[in-house]
Amino acid sequence: MAGVSLVCVPLVGKSVEQMLSEMATATAGGADVAEIRLDHLASFEPRRDLDLLLRNRPLPVLVTYRPNWEGGEYEGDDGWRFEALLLAMELGAEYVDIELKVAQEFVDFLSGKRPDGTKLIVSSHNYQSTPSIEDLSILVARIQAVGADIVKIATTAVDITDVARMFKVMVHCQGQQVPMIGLVMGDRGLMSRILCPKFGGYLTFAALSTGKESAPGQPSLSDLLDIYNIKQIKADTKVYGVVGKPVAHSKGPIIHGTAFRSVGYNAVYLPLLVDDFESFLSTYSSPDFAGFSVTMPHKEAALACSDEVDPIVKYIGAVNTLIKRPSDGKLIGYNTDYTGSISAIETTLQVFSGKVPGASLADRIFVVIGAGGAGKALAYGAREKGARVVIANRTYERARELANFVGGQAISLADLENFHPEEGMILANTTSVGMYPNIHDTPLSKQALKSYALVFDAIYNPTLTRLLREAEELGVTIVTGVEMFVRQAMGQFEIFTGLPAPEKLMRETLLNFH
Ligand code: NAP
Repeated sequence: MAGVSLVCVPLVGKSVEQMLSEMATATAGGADVAEIRLDHLASFEPRRDLDLLLRNRPLPVLVTYRPNWEGGEYEGDDGWRFEALLLAMELGAEYVDIELKVAQEFVDFLSGKRPDGTKLIVSSHNYQSTPSIEDLSILVARIQAVGADIVKIATTAVDITDVARMFKVMVHCQGQQVPMIGLVMGDRGLMSRILCPKFGGYLTFAALSTGKESAPGQPSLSDLLDIYNIKQIKADTKVYGVVGKPVAHSKGPIIHGTAFRSVGYNAVYLPLLVDDFESFLSTYSSPDFAGFSVTMPHKEAALACSDEVDPIVKYIGAVNTLIKRPSDGKLIGYNTDYTGSISAIETTLQVFSGKVPGASLADRIFVVIGAGGAGKALAYGAREKGARVVIANRTYERARELANFVGGQAISLADLENFHPEEGMILANTTSVGMYPNIHDTPLSKQALKSYALVFDAIYNPTLTRLLREAEELGVTIVTGVEMFVRQAMGQFEIFTGLPAPEKLMRETLLNFH
């Protein structure tokens, strides 16, 4: 039934003691099942060790003894393995896993002595790819035919769209007697591990902590429970996420996931590692995939895929927020980077100069370093507010192009060093110069910063870049990229949900995880 999936933590310790300690941690962390990976034990004495592992167990257990020909660590023969798995059944293990390749032999081996009460999971692993829907369905039928109580299929995502096939097969299986575990391994398959309650998956695996994964792409137990809120995911839960490449570093899931939960919004927010934006959108076209934050390198593609956009978005040439309009399914594109950054700068100016809202940027010189996505967003945003925009960029040609578009002036990075036509100017860095790990770099000398009333940096890692630190040392007001990030995320939250963003919570969440 869609709506309940068990969360199972694989125990990968090398000794029984380590596994028992992992089991206690998994129990305290909220796991539903512990998978005892017998093949991970450095030495294994079945009767003694299984007794220790199963006696007084705090959780239901799944006992797996994976051979190396199926991706595990056991190198011996099947006879020994079968005996150990039978013993686990006799000792009351709730689940035992056997590979499809030898499932018939195992079932024959058990005949007449199979204890009641243990569910048999018959599993198939494909470490290369995800087969077609037809081939997956045939695989399900073969696993059912061998007498499985639970079908388990794990494949590999070459592309995020591969996961859709597994979801289809899982939904189809829901009407049948035999529950299914359907997982797609690898970073591109992550959503299969999180959305299983939505698509009727019986169980999903979660690593006890980062580094203790038993298969590629496994999220940690705390991420699954706390960030993705898996226990609240149901068939009608809406899916949002950040689409990018890479996305693993994104703070989007933690900030949006926490915000959704705080207002009781029935939605989950995922990192979505996407290679081809268009095929991603056409594969996940159902209204359930309701909206996306879009990051590098897909912001231009998101604009091209939008049915309608905010007028200014066309000028900026980039969409960072995309929603499916519920009434007609049309894709509507927004850019909250420009609203987030400009409002962060304006608010700070108002606080520090006591000026009336909205008027603070008008007529000021606003220097943008960079002419990429963020540069365009800042330049158009400042122009909208009536500022006189100046663009400086490494590639001068791009600076001139952007300056022409916004009716501003272009100067070279070298000339920016001595640019000081008037007091009260604003400087916005939108290049990645100074971003982690190159934290000692800066796009403009400290000397040149004296000419500015306020310095903004779009970079949010680190929060205090060398540029901002040096500006602060000179007594110049600063605005961080974290401030822009939180504001663009608040804008996205409001577009996604139609509700006011829980600002305090979103700020605290970002600070706590930064
Ligand atoms: P982008 O489109 O790739 O543009 C990068 C810009 O940086 C270009 O103008 C490029 O100049 C310039 N640049 C790159 N390396 C340089 C170097 N070594 N020296 C001088 N200039 C250099 O990237 P983007 O999407 O605009 O992102 C830029 C920065 O903004 C990133 O650090 C990103 O994390 C940050 N950002 C922050 C937020 C937020 O919420 N805080 C949101 C969006 C972006 P050329 O034209 O010469 O190549």
